Amino acid sequence: MKHTTALLVILCSIVSFAQQPYKRTLKLMGSRFDITVVAKTQQKGDAYIDTAVAEITRIEKLISSWDPNSETSKINNNAGVKPVKVAAELFHLIERAIRISKLTDGAFDISYASMDRIWKFDGSMTVMPFAKDIEASVLKVGFDNIILNKKNNTVFLKLKGMKIGFGAIGKGYAADKAKDLLQSKGVVSGIINASGDMNTWGKQINGDTWKVAITNPLNKNKVFALLPVLNGAVVTSGNYEKYVNFNGIRYAHIIDPRTGYPSTGIISVTVFAPKAELADALATSVFVMGKETGLDRINQLPNIDCIIIDDKGNIFKSNNIVIDKL
Ligand code: ADP
Ligand code: MG
Repeated sequence: MKHTTALLVILCSIVSFAQQPYKRTLKLMGSRFDITVVAKTQQKGDAYIDTAVAEITRIEKLISSWDPNSETSKINNNAGVKPVKVAAELFHLIERAIRISKLTDGAFDISYASMDRIWKFDGSMTVMPFAKDIEASVLKVGFDNIILNKKNNTVFLKLKGMKIGFGAIGKGYAADKAKDLLQSKGVVSGIINASGDMNTWGKQINGDTWKVAITNPLNKNKVFALLPVLNGAVVTSGNYEKYVNFNGIRYAHIIDPRTGYPSTGIISVTVFAPKAELADALATSVFVMGKETGLDRINQLPNIDCIIIDDKGNIFKSNNIVIDKL
């Protein structure tokens, strides 16, 4: 009897200190977030997830262009008027975004945002915009016209009507920051999944590496690859949710800042990178660059890989992706 009790006590302590995954799904930044942390108790798991949620909410306040009180809105409202002093964090995010614009020859550009007056991908647009309006809209686009002053932490959009938006990089950035914060609090393993912008660290409790399932958007029920994500990010950008059709052509919600026209031909891009921010921005960029230039650029970048699916269902992958037949 005594033995059994002792055994029970030992078992209970093992159970209560065993790491378990805890998961919460919620809407943040207008998107679905799934946050998973590995913790010893439900209470700890909940507290960690609350920490992540608070961090993502804080970032949303900083970068939202919908919130009229955000620093981003202040920058936009003062376009063509005056420089705006911002938090160092936002300043650095803009600096990195401009660096990605340079890396992608302008395919990625946070100043794309003035074009959202022309294109709507929420079903409200019924006719193709006029070519002259599209041409006029790109006049207000160009990362060269985002003037940064390092000394004063100010951002100035040179042209009246210019706007910046973080739709293509914000969720990735938030996922990185939430991961960093949880790691600093001692969380050994987890996943932040921001609607397909995934950031992982540590391992699953059975010791396996976290894996990401890659599906073909043309046949969503069929997973064609299950790839390991080892302490890194994997981001999928797809045009299967937000797009419009005109004359049999499907236009994605990702717009070429150089022409004003939405990208066509690609339906999904998945990018693997050490950070979700870069992966997010590059996934968007590959849409604009197209499969040849996109693959070529990704192949030149160390530790970065991608899988592209075109509108015919063809799959293209960068040099380091090895897909085993499932
Ligand atoms: P999603 O998160 O919807 O899968 P992305 O991460 O690719 O997609 O981001 C698409 C969003 O990025 C668009 O809804 C828009 O807000 C913004 N965007 C569109 N075109 C560009 C561009 N060329 N450069 C930077 N941002 C863009
Ligand atoms: Mg993106």
